[in-house]
Amino acid sequence: ERYSVLVLGDQLKPDISSIASSGTKNILMVESVKKCTSGKWHKRRLAFVISAMRHFRDVLKDEGFNVDYHEWADDFTSAINEHIEENDIEKLFVMKPVNREGAGFVNSLSNINSIDVEVTENDMFICPENEFVDWLNKQRSPLMENFYRTMRKTRKVLMDGKDPAGGKWNFDKENREKPKKELSYQEPPGFKDDKTTKKVIDDINDKFPDNFGKLNSLEVPVDRKGALRYIKDFIDNKLEKFGPYEDAMVSGNMVMYHSRASILMNVGLLHPEECVRMAEKAYNDKKVPINSAEGYVRQIMGWREYMAGMYIATSSKILSYNFLNCKRSLPSFYWDENLTDMNCLYNAVRSVRETGYTHHIVRLMVLGNFALIAGIMPKEVSDWFLETYEDAYEWVVTPNVICMSQFADGGIIATKPYASSANYINKMSDYCKDCKYSPHEKLKENACPFNYLYWDFLKRNRKRLERTGRMGLAYNLLDKQDPDMIKACIKKSKEFLESLKTGRQY
Ligand code: FAD
Ligand code: SF4
Repeated sequence: ERYSVLVLGDQLKPDISSIASSGTKNILMVESVKKCTSGKWHKRRLAFVISAMRHFRDVLKDEGFNVDYHEWADDFTSAINEHIEENDIEKLFVMKPVNREGAGFVNSLSNINSIDVEVTENDMFICPENEFVDWLNKQRSPLMENFYRTMRKTRKVLMDGKDPAGGKWNFDKENREKPKKELSYQEPPGFKDDKTTKKVIDDINDKFPDNFGKLNSLEVPVDRKGALRYIKDFIDNKLEKFGPYEDAMVSGNMVMYHSRASILMNVGLLHPEECVRMAEKAYNDKKVPINSAEGYVRQIMGWREYMAGMYIATSSKILSYNFLNCKRSLPSFYWDENLTDMNCLYNAVRSVRETGYTHHIVRLMVLGNFALIAGIMPKEVSDWFLETYEDAYEWVVTPNVICMSQFADGGIIATKPYASSANYINKMSDYCKDCKYSPHEKLKENACPFNYLYWDFLKRNRKRLERTGRMGLAYNLLDKQDPDMIKACIKKSKEFLESLKTGRQY
C-alpha cells in the first residue's frame, strides 16, 4: 500500500487519529528550519519540541513503523514532496492541526501535490470541535463557567449523581491563600537530558544563537514514559496544595504547586482527559481535598478546553482586536529583566528568559496586568507571549493574551479586565518587600507604578469600560478619590510611560 501519515511536532500522541485511521506503518516527520525561524522562539521551546519529536520517532521505530524523518529540512513542502516522490505515495493522512495556519497548510497539501490527502479529526482535546461549536451556538454569552459545568456533567467528572462533588461547582474562594514563609516546594522528579536531547540543545544553540532565552538543559520529560512519571509525581506530591496556593507567587520558586504540564499536553505527550481523571481519582481516594481536585480539573476541562474552542470558533481577526484602542509599544524590559527596577516584573521576565515558564497568575496579574494598564498594543503583547514561553502555541496564546489578559475583545472571554494596582501583587506575592517601590504609595518618588497606572487606566478608558463587564465598583471608587490626586496620577503615568525604552532587546 502506498499510504503515509504526516505527524506534526505538536501531535506526539501514540494513538493519534491520523495513524489510527490510516492503517499504514509509513510515517513522515519533518523538522522545518523555516518554521523554526518564523519567530525568535525561546530556544527552550524549540529544543523541547525537536527533542520530543526525535524521541517519538524512536518509539515508533521500535514499534515497527517505517519513519521517514527529516532532520533540519529547509521547509515542510520540500520534505513532503521528496517523501511522496521517493516512496510513490498515493495518499497522505494528517490530523487537523489546531492552529489556523497549520490547518490551512494541511488543506493546501493536495494542491501542492496531486495526491489524496485525508485530514482526520483532532483528538487532542476532551471536547471535539463540533461539540464545542454546537454548545457555542446555543449560548447568548458564552461563559467559561457554563461550558465547564456542561463538561463536568456530560463526562461525569467529580460528580455526585447529579450534583457536583463537594456540593459546589466552584471553590475559588478557598483557593486564594497568600504565600507563607514556611511553605516548602518539592522539585519535580529530575530528568537528565539524554544523548538525543543534548545533541538537540547543541544544534539549537548553534543554529539559532540569536533566539530568545537561555538553554543549557531541558530537564523535563521528552517522551510518553517520562511524561506519565512526571504527572504522577505532581498528583502524588503537589496537587494537595495546588488549590489553596494556585494564585500565590514567590520569588525563589516559579512552579510552586503547579504542574508545569502544559508543555507536555500541548504536544500530545499527555492527554488532558487523563490528567483530569488522575486528579479525580486522587480526590476519590481521599488523597487530596476537593478544592485542589476541582481547581485543577477546572483549569484543564474548563479553561484549556474553552480557550481552544473559542480560538477555533473565532477568525484570524482576533489578532487585530483592540477594544481599548491601545497604541503603545511593548517596553524593552519584557526581553531583559535588567531594564526594569520593578521587582515583580524583574522576577517574571527573568524566569521567562531562563526557563520559558511562569505560572498563570504571573502571566495574568504581573506581565499581562502591566501591559493592560500601560496601554500596550494587544498584538505586541501576544507576539511576546508567543515567542517567549516554552508552552506557547497560537491557539492558546491568542485567546489568553488578547482576550483574557488584554480585554481586547471587549469582554467576551473575560467578564471584566484583569487590571489591578499594586495591592493584589502585594497581597499574593513576596515581591514587594524587596522592591525599591512601595506598594502603598501613589504619588511619592517611590510610588509603585502599578498604582498610578491603574487610576490612569480607569480614567482613560471610562467611556469604553464603565458599562462593560463588572466595572461599576471600580468606577465608584474612582469617583470617591480626590480629583487632584487622580490628575497627578495621570501626569505621573505619562512621564513614566514616556521614560520607558521600547523595542526588542536581546
Ligand atoms: P497549572 O496551574 O498546573 O494548570 C493545569 C493546566 O491547566 C495547565 O497545564 C494548562 O494545560 C491548563 N490551563 C490552565 N489555565 C489555562 C488557560 N487559561 N488556557 C489554557 N490552558 C490552561 N497556556 C499555555 O499552554 N500556553 C501558553 O502560551 C499560555 N499563555 C498564557 C498567557 C497568558 C497571558 C495567560 C493569562 C495564560 C496563558 N496560558 C498559556 C494559560 C496558563 O497560564 C498556562 O497553561 C499555565 O500557567 C501552564 O502552567 P502549568 O502547566 O503549571 O499550569
Ligand atoms: Fe511590583 Fe509595585 Fe510590588 Fe514593586 S511595589 S514588586 S513594582 S507591585
